[in-house]
Amino acid sequence: MSFPKSNKPSPVDLDALVDKMTLEEQVSLLSGEDFWSLPAVKRLGIAKLRVSDGPNGARGAGSLVGGVTAAAFPVGISIGASWDPELAREIGGALADEVKSKGAHVSLAPTVNIQRSVTNGRNFECYSEDPELTSALAVGYIEGLQDKGVAATIKHFAGNESEIQRTTISSEIDERSLREVYLRPFEDAVKKAGTWAVMSSYNKLNGTYTAENEWLLTQVLRGDWGFDGVVMSDWFGSRSTTSTVNAGLDLEMPGPTRDRGTKLVEAVETGAVARDILRDRTLNILRLIQRTGAMAETSDLQERADDRPEHRALIRRAGAAGTVLLKNNGILPLEGHRTIAVIGPNAKTAQIMGGGSSQLNPHYCVSPWDGLVEKFTAPCLTYAPGCTNHRWEPLLEGEISVDFYASEDFSGPVVHSEIMQNATTFWMSPFAGGKVKPQYFSARLHATFVPEETGLHRVGLFSAGYSRTYVDGQLAVDAWDGWTKGRTFFEEGCDEIIGEVMLTRGKTHVIEIEFATKPPENISCPAIRVGIGRPLGDLGIAEAVQVAQESDMAMIFVGRSGEWDTEGWDLENITLPGMQDDLVAAVLAANPRTVVILQTGGPVEMPWINDAAAVLQAWYPGQECGNAIADVLSGDAEPGGRLPQTFPRQWADNPSQSQDLEIYPGLNGKVRYQEGVFIGYRHYARNGISPLFPFGHGLSYSAFSLSNLQLSANADGVAVTFLIENTGSRSGSTVAQVYIGPPTAAVERPASELKGFQKVALDSGNSQTVTIPIPLRAFAYFDIDTHCWRVEKGLYTVSLGFSAADLVAGSTIEMASTMLPV
Ligand code: BGC
Repeated sequence: MSFPKSNKPSPVDLDALVDKMTLEEQVSLLSGEDFWSLPAVKRLGIAKLRVSDGPNGARGAGSLVGGVTAAAFPVGISIGASWDPELAREIGGALADEVKSKGAHVSLAPTVNIQRSVTNGRNFECYSEDPELTSALAVGYIEGLQDKGVAATIKHFAGNESEIQRTTISSEIDERSLREVYLRPFEDAVKKAGTWAVMSSYNKLNGTYTAENEWLLTQVLRGDWGFDGVVMSDWFGSRSTTSTVNAGLDLEMPGPTRDRGTKLVEAVETGAVARDILRDRTLNILRLIQRTGAMAETSDLQERADDRPEHRALIRRAGAAGTVLLKNNGILPLEGHRTIAVIGPNAKTAQIMGGGSSQLNPHYCVSPWDGLVEKFTAPCLTYAPGCTNHRWEPLLEGEISVDFYASEDFSGPVVHSEIMQNATTFWMSPFAGGKVKPQYFSARLHATFVPEETGLHRVGLFSAGYSRTYVDGQLAVDAWDGWTKGRTFFEEGCDEIIGEVMLTRGKTHVIEIEFATKPPENISCPAIRVGIGRPLGDLGIAEAVQVAQESDMAMIFVGRSGEWDTEGWDLENITLPGMQDDLVAAVLAANPRTVVILQTGGPVEMPWINDAAAVLQAWYPGQECGNAIADVLSGDAEPGGRLPQTFPRQWADNPSQSQDLEIYPGLNGKVRYQEGVFIGYRHYARNGISPLFPFGHGLSYSAFSLSNLQLSANADGVAVTFLIENTGSRSGSTVAQVYIGPPTAAVERPASELKGFQKVALDSGNSQTVTIPIPLRAFAYFDIDTHCWRVEKGLYTVSLGFSAADLVAGSTIEMASTMLPV
């Protein structure tokens, strides 16, 4: 195993340094100083270590919303769909530049939890339902980051496959499933990429919080795999002093500390935490500081908005590379200019990312409409929104003044005033000029709203804390009296409460919002959001139908947004929100030459699929969204993606579906991973369920064949060699996928599993011989009795194809009985 070295010279002898530190100095490095950094130890020349959220950018310090602009890259599932570890490496490298532009040293990325259900709020942030694909992409991404001296923090370790009660629930997962599926990306991140940091998850694993789980953090991570980096808690995910430190959690985040500081000093003094353990934890932090070159940093750490042309180009290319052409009756790529009806709620709104901690303030974003106008001549395009797809009322935008009080009831003087650019904020420490206690204050916000139409409007309000909204002096919405916990703001906020008001076109209506803190349950982060909107109703669909009828063809942009695909809650089903299915069906009936462009963070049901001429899944591809989509529609780029997650015909077909609520979403504090290793395509195959689109599926604008499959055993495993040919009329790429099927084993095993793949680009008529090495481990299952990876003697099937359901060539190979260490 080799760990990448820092790109900076590192003359510091860390053992000597740690021994020069006082107990208090050592303890000081084991928790954050504020939300995004560790304290410096000036006496010893140790500078501050700074972290920034990822994975689709580097937001920098500050709140989750607003702040210095940053490059927005494609989200995890889009990178997952690229099936391209080299692209992930390039993205990792570009993100290292971004992290540095925010004065940080550590990226809180990548997210590699496995797509278990199809409703996980963070499905969009994760790469795939498959551990092989997830691992390969994570390794590329981490190497890209760390080759430029920026630490990766692979997360969330482990068993955080749902957002429901994520800070308290216990994921009940048997060890074989953990080792084969859920831990695998973390294992490869340590053994192959040498990740410098790992983030523990919020949840318990088999009854013990992961941040206190000695088996996970010490026996497996450091013992079995040889990890020598830092384990940090998820934000507010450390809940104890001695248990976390003794179990292997190096760093409590964020700061200021809740569990460490003087409490930890006392624990060491009383012997509850051994001095050697404290020394080891500190040494791990010092090693990270050294690896990232932060040790003696003197440079200017101002955050910069670094909008680079090469990042723009990479994001545009990556967006197209992750786009999956699910269906095509020949209408794509578009040839020549036509009259095109551009329809749908996502047409003029760029859906570039998911919601939650990965969100950032992008340098810019290109909507599909903007991308199409740039690509095709504007007069050919007509537009109709058709319907809305928002989860909450549209955010109230414009200058909003905020007055803070150091009391919870607006008593006393205004201690600080500031201006916000819209009506949503997370107040993350430090804020309000440091004039209020983060958990004890009130605030009055003053805004105005000028409606475009006269009529009934809906005012939506939710908050982590108590709040009310007045319109022209009248109480319109009350989230104060009777506030109840809902599923917003990381499960600290109430659900959106709606008030209805009559407003007048062109009139300046006065909006006043009151807020006061309430004690948090887990995550200490007061927050509020206010929106105002008008229902569109059926008239929107009628207008869209007319526009579609009057055009040669239609493009309909539907899906979800970061309001739906977001951290802190799970989806309640996988139908398109609002009236979108009705809209799609109506437009398809009006004009059969219609292409449906989906943007979601995971699978959706498509009741209209048979009528669509083509369906393209574009996920959330980052700031170049509209350009990447227009490139693919026009044929300037190919649809390079293949599904990293099976799309079921109906929600009820998904792997964690059960009448037993403990299996999903969880019951009485437990979520039981009953399906074991039968996750994703393994589940559909085992239960004979034919999916809407299988894992690995994606059409090309060209055509490919696979032939001459040959297998040759060697000491490391088996080399799978074959010929791939572009038999179509265009250049393009495809993904050759190798699946292994075991003989009957002592345990039930999936009939076939992805164990290798390669994306191959070829010009029309060209062919290439490809060899994919399949290591011995790929033939093994995890034997819980011997605690080894066991390859059973027998005949294994090796299949080659373009998806889990499209295996075009197969052969067998005899393997000897072998045991491999953990
Ligand atoms: C998320 C992490 C994130 C952290 C800091 C948590 O809510 O689970 O992924 O890095 O916040 O924003």
